[in-house]
Amino acid sequence: MYDLVRNDDYPYLFDANACAECGGRCCTGESGNIFVSAGEIRELALLKKMSEHDFIECYLEKRGYKYSLKEKRIGDSYDCIFYDRQINGCAVYEARPKQCRTFPFWDYYKTRVAELKQECPGVIDA
Ligand code: SF4
Ligand code: SF4
Repeated sequence: MYDLVRNDDYPYLFDANACAECGGRCCTGESGNIFVSAGEIRELALLKKMSEHDFIECYLEKRGYKYSLKEKRIGDSYDCIFYDRQINGCAVYEARPKQCRTFPFWDYYKTRVAELKQECPGVIDA
């Protein structure tokens, strides 16, 4: 199946089939921030069947005035706390934050397509 995602504001397309073989490069590798809003914290806590307070303690860390998902160090990779290497995917997929849902269509990458292609094998020229 060819599952191409197009966003007319971006100079590239995304082939979602690439994720199956990729090994979650966008969820692992270099350390980074995955910011979560108050609503997303509510949804994630619900999914994990935890109170928001406990969820924040367990899975989030403060970055400035925002919360970001914690990371776990595996070898030289900083995996997102919710990246599951056993299933090669996201353990909270249904409630993953907007930042994850919208990748690779991020403003930052609009003018940095070569850099994005290094990270995401699903990105192809429009
Ligand atoms: S880097 Fe791209 S291809 Fe790989 S899992 Fe993330 S979105 Fe899918
Ligand atoms: S929440 Fe899920 S999709 Fe987002 S970075 Fe973590 S593992 Fe990846």
